[in-house]
Amino acid sequence: MVRFFILFNLLITNTLFAQKTQVDLIIHNAIVYTVNAKMDKAEAFAVKDAKIVAVGASRDILSKYKAKKTLDAMGKTITPGFIDAHAHFYGYGSNLQTVDLVGTKSWEEIIEKCQAFAKQNTEGWLLGRGWDQNDWAIKEYPTKEKLDALFPNRPVLLTRVDGHAAIANQKALDLASVKAGQTLTGGEIVVKNGVLTGVLVDNAIGLVRSQIPPKTEKDDRQALLEAQKNCFAVGLTTVVDCGLDYKTVELIEKMNADKSLKMRLYVMLSDGRANYEYLFKRGIIKTDRLNVRSFKLYADGALGSRGACLLHPYADRPNHFGFLLKDKAYYEAVMSKIAEHEGMQACTHAIGDSANREILRIYGSILRGSNDRRWRIEHAQVVNQADFALFKKYNVVPSVQPTHATSDMYWAGARLGKEAEKGAYAFKQLLDQNGWIPLGTDFPVEDINPILTFYAAVVRRDAKNYPEGGYQMGNALSREETLRGMTIWAAKANFEEHEKGSIEVGKFADFIILSQDIMTALPSDILKTKVNATFVGGEKVF
Ligand SMILES: [Zn+2]
Repeated sequence: MVRFFILFNLLITNTLFAQKTQVDLIIHNAIVYTVNAKMDKAEAFAVKDAKIVAVGASRDILSKYKAKKTLDAMGKTITPGFIDAHAHFYGYGSNLQTVDLVGTKSWEEIIEKCQAFAKQNTEGWLLGRGWDQNDWAIKEYPTKEKLDALFPNRPVLLTRVDGHAAIANQKALDLASVKAGQTLTGGEIVVKNGVLTGVLVDNAIGLVRSQIPPKTEKDDRQALLEAQKNCFAVGLTTVVDCGLDYKTVELIEKMNADKSLKMRLYVMLSDGRANYEYLFKRGIIKTDRLNVRSFKLYADGALGSRGACLLHPYADRPNHFGFLLKDKAYYEAVMSKIAEHEGMQACTHAIGDSANREILRIYGSILRGSNDRRWRIEHAQVVNQADFALFKKYNVVPSVQPTHATSDMYWAGARLGKEAEKGAYAFKQLLDQNGWIPLGTDFPVEDINPILTFYAAVVRRDAKNYPEGGYQMGNALSREETLRGMTIWAAKANFEEHEKGSIEVGKFADFIILSQDIMTALPSDILKTKVNATFVGGEKVF
């Protein structure tokens, strides 16, 4: 009888298994925000060959599929992997190879940071950036003795936050043959009692900097891998790199081929003759992990340094309007060339309302009317009320960064004046033009963490919870709009909405498991959200 039972059970199990479809991975018992058109929720999904093959209730998925690996999400929240629509992935990785000295409070702290960094990074020049003696108790330039004692054989160069001063150790000064008493135009080699202090001002920095060997392929590989590691840890599965050289694209292709680089990248090539010639000749580059079809141009500078091009003078600097970086004829010529290439995209940095107007008009003169070219304005930071409708008229995509709003809000009004400020960081008003909007960070200018973007867009407060009522709340986005902006709409701005950005059948299995439900958490708890796991193409990468 017992034997019969076992046999019977085996038969049943085998029959059931025989009916189940084999997949690679099943995730069940989750709150899945699919971010499909209806914003449906689900409990489970199945993954095969890196793509999602079924989405539904846990019971249904478990009864229809069997998998090599089944993961019980224990009721946790799952969303599509985050997509950063505007960042500098390679630049961020390169920065990680130097010591970050921003916010340091004393020379002693800087020395400690250099020591810690040197332990982890044992070779080559020790480079750092971001110190500011105005933040110290003793607000005087440092001197190099401690650097000489700690690093007698390793050259060190630490640049001040504004880039206009730096301190070098003796080894670095020797390599550059810098001597006390030496003079040069447009710079100063600071000396105290006839002895070099190590401090170099303006053009004097160049004497030492010119001795730094150019970056090797090994350096670049490491930069990309470190950027990838940190980005996976915060739930990013696609990053848009806004401005690379074609040679870096070729390195990315190599690293995709040897499977070391798994981050999906959408790359804008920088504005430069060699890059145009390269892509026009080669055509759109598109694989599962890499998409190159766009160019990044700059219309103006930044608001913080009053380089943004405004329609009215700066409220805090009379008669100063900022300026366009190139003349209109240049933009027209280059953008017309881009337009000649089917499917290629122009992406232009525009901060000031005058810069936005000029670019919208030039785009309009080329695109003429309704179209699906998805040409983008990066930042679209200050827009005149009369110009919002041009985004709709020419289907121009405003690519915005919610954390810029909460970083700049402290002084944006003083720069712009009350009237122009109303059209600044106007994400809701911009969203209303086309009905969709991609969100990003511009890291490393801002933090890489997408949860900060979510919080800034929804609550319009910074990580210090300022201001209490939120900044210009009329332009806050709903949680649903924000989640779409960080996933499916960011994908759409890259022409990738059919392959990623939602948890739907046929899409890449790019998803993340969160520590809490960001769609229902109290506003005051949103920033506590952690990413527990990140999957790219069904592979756990964090
Ligand atoms: Zn940028």
